[in-house]
Amino acid sequence: MSTIFTQIINREIPADIVYEDEFCLAFRDINPQAPVHVLLIPKKEIVSMATAETEDQAILGHLMVKASEIASMLELSESGYRLVVNTNEDAGQSVYHLHIHILGGRKLTWPPG
Ligand code: AMP
Repeated sequence: MSTIFTQIINREIPADIVYEDEFCLAFRDINPQAPVHVLLIPKKEIVSMATAETEDQAILGHLMVKASEIASMLELSESGYRLVVNTNEDAGQSVYHLHIHILGGRKLTWPPG
């Protein structure tokens, strides 16, 4: 089932897009939890890490490399940043279209809540 993120990919609702290519899209989170909070999503509708399959290997690798490049573009590389993929209920996943949170611009605490 499609989510709001598919509507963002299809430009049916607006988003502050920071990166796009054939396979993925990155945009600023509407409810930022850090000074820099970007969501990176595959254009393919993968529901969550829990449903990712072997055939998703290339796109998942692509997302990780692009997350690194986007973090660098947003000047987070030196200070540091965190990549988060909330998966299903216990992790608080609220949009069931796989997404990597790119969080930075402040000291992030550990362990997460
Ligand atoms: P998660 O809770 O890990 O599923 O993350 C979903 C994220 O999507 C949350 O951080 C929301 O703030 C964010 N979000 C929901 N709707 C939008 C939207 N229309 N534009 C940008 N970010 C959104």
